[in-house]
Amino acid sequence: MKIENHNLTAPASHNKKATKNKGGVITPKIIVLHYTASGGEDGSGDADYLSRATTRASAQVVVGREGDIHQLMPLNNRAWHAGESAYKGKSDVNSFSIGIEIDNWGWLNNEGYSHAGVKVPEEFQFKGTRNGPSLWEAYRSEQLEAVSQVIAAICDYYDIEDIVGHEDVSPGRKQDPGPALDGFISQMKKEHLKDFPVEGKSQIIPAKGTKKTTTGLNLRQDADKTSLILTTIPKGSSVEILKEPYPGWFQVRFGNRIGFVVGKYLT
Ligand SMILES: [Zn+2]
Repeated sequence: MKIENHNLTAPASHNKKATKNKGGVITPKIIVLHYTASGGEDGSGDADYLSRATTRASAQVVVGREGDIHQLMPLNNRAWHAGESAYKGKSDVNSFSIGIEIDNWGWLNNEGYSHAGVKVPEEFQFKGTRNGPSLWEAYRSEQLEAVSQVIAAICDYYDIEDIVGHEDVSPGRKQDPGPALDGFISQMKKEHLKDFPVEGKSQIIPAKGTKKTTTGLNLRQDADKTSLILTTIPKGSSVEILKEPYPGWFQVRFGNRIGFVVGKYLT
């Protein structure tokens, strides 16, 4: 997938749901990720909703749970996704950002029900604390693959400075896309942002073998310091090294758990 004349090429559902909920031309500088807090599998429900004249909201792109991509307007048109917002002191984030709405319920209650009373199967529940709620719908892998293709195309075409969540630009007011997307956002920053401190993937040597922890070490769900802690590995424990996905992080197996640890505490 790439972008031609500010439009995604296939397999995006090319502007079939063209919305009038938009403003003038903008120069996209950041990408803002959202969840829709809604159901549906292919994203068409939300694409329709955000295209209705009575809906005072929109986004450039909607991605369904099955990975369907809906583009609702040219990517350099101003969408209404961020509302009251600011990024690095600049308000009105809609005027310099591309919004991607990802179909997902967001926070769930302790029994796994969404705000609309829909039960999310256990296999799609994500444990992670943010402002109280500790259970969320997990983003689907097909869906994240689609979002990553959209982000890659956008970062190729525009001079994108940052990839953030709605909660980052509207703190306190919004909590989407929530902790279930933290690891993915970190990964996207590492892959696509010029100024992100990364040494380049080609320099990462696939790691193998066993190492020992030099301190009590958190085993995390993702290679990210804000990611969910699965367990704390005691000092002096052996872990099996699976790979080094990012500089400074190792994916390891500890007992029957697989997760990520900061590599400098291994010897
Ligand atoms: Zn949002």
